[in-house]
Amino acid sequence: MDCLFCKIVAGEIPSKKLFEDEQILAFYDIQPQAPVHFLVIPKEHIASAQDLKAEHGALLGHIFETISHLCDQLGCENGYRVVTNVGEDGGQSVHHLHFHVLAQRSLAWPPG
Ligand code: AMP
Ligand code: ZN
Repeated sequence: MDCLFCKIVAGEIPSKKLFEDEQILAFYDIQPQAPVHFLVIPKEHIASAQDLKAEHGALLGHIFETISHLCDQLGCENGYRVVTNVGEDGGQSVHHLHFHVLAQRSLAWPPG
């Protein structure tokens, strides 16, 4: 499948990895929008949050627990934002589910 993040999972495209296990991968965003900006993805190809089912509950719990651990390690005690963009209006450019984690600056709300 011609999917950028599946290629990162397969090691065909390099990434700056923060964490990896059999289910998920966390790596730094190539175009950071904050001093800390990383992505967490399932290794399984899921196109977006729109495709999530109840059976993905444990996977999502694992993703959020990993985000919490990584934010502890990276010194994000002042807070952070977790974002998943869905579809065209959501601004999704890579169609493999990913959670952006942004930290270490004050983030505006509402987003643009
Ligand atoms: P989205 O626009 O929500 O689909 O987010 C896709 C994100 O992937 C963007 O923030 C890009 O900067 C990031 N990105 C694209 N290519 C790479 C890559 N090769 N390594 C790391 N991040 C990437
Ligand atoms: Zn994929």
